[in-house]
Amino acid sequence: TAKELGKNRLCFFDVGEHQLRRKRHRIADDFRRALAKDELELFYQPKVDLCRQRVVGFEALIRWHHPDNGLLTPDQFLPALAGTEQEIMLGEYVIAEGVRTIERFARLNEDYSLSINISAQHILNEGFLPKLESRLALLPAGLRSRLFIEVLESMALEDIDLSINILEGCKRLGVNLSLDDFGTGFSSLSYFRRLPVDEIKIDKSFVREILTDADDSMIVRNIVNLAKGFNRRVVGEGVESQAVAEELAGFGCDLAQGYHFSRPLSLGQALSWSDRFNGC
Ligand code: C2E
Ligand code: MG
Ligand code: MG
Ligand code: MG
Repeated sequence: TAKELGKNRLCFFDVGEHQLRRKRHRIADDFRRALAKDELELFYQPKVDLCRQRVVGFEALIRWHHPDNGLLTPDQFLPALAGTEQEIMLGEYVIAEGVRTIERFARLNEDYSLSINISAQHILNEGFLPKLESRLALLPAGLRSRLFIEVLESMALEDIDLSINILEGCKRLGVNLSLDDFGTGFSSLSYFRRLPVDEIKIDKSFVREILTDADDSMIVRNIVNLAKGFNRRVVGEGVESQAVAEELAGFGCDLAQGYHFSRPLSLGQALSWSDRFNGC
């Protein structure tokens, strides 16, 4: 009967939800172990100055060497960490590693910058600024400005005043800020101009087809102009061909990142790739 069918459907739905929750739980638990057992690694993707044709910095992207499931990318585990304390533990790991990497750049006499990704939940968390300050205290003066913290454009939609406060706190500590996946967060221009960010990253969903899609091309060109008008550095993400890199350069975009230049690599590989690219 219809009633039984309805009940079954409800039942199937419940099982699905339940299993999904259990799976997320398992991943989040597993992740705790990953942190303890040192299964995480930051991979590094070069950021290329389009005008000078030089690598000027890197973005650090998290990878998980899972003992059973191989190398995992963020889409395979980040959603399961959302809202858990592990999400914050990951951010703390990334900050600590990032500081070490900047020290390594300095020892190598390279003036590369380093971008790290920090979740909205983590950066809006009460203890964030004091913890960041104590981590940065380990960095010799002058190296702090090498660090860029990337936050999602959608972050400030939660609580604009709190967001601005925290971002200003980061600026006072001497780090740079970057607005990630720009164009996907539906922020208004009045809100955009209040955010004390140094850099804007145009989401790859707009960049990918700028050569063939007139709308995307128009959007990207206008984001570049908006960014330049507000004196922000602008980065095109997801650049997969020389032609797209040239188009972006023609729009006045400062930097590009994407598989056309390099995929995210281990630190050693990323450094040697960049030495070659920069002609050292
Ligand atoms: P994102 O910060 O926007 O990073 C860019 C993503 O695009 C990376 O994916 C990168 O590998 C990928 N990508 C770069 N160039 C290309 C390209 O030419 N084509 C295509 N199709 N993709 C490209 P990944 O490493 O899988 O990271 C995905 C997202 O996960 C990141 O997006 C970021 O939001 C998040 N994430 C990564 N690492 C961390 C982290 O350490 N902490 C936090 N909280 N989030 C992270
Ligand atoms: Mg990013
Ligand atoms: Mg992005
Ligand atoms: Mg993204």
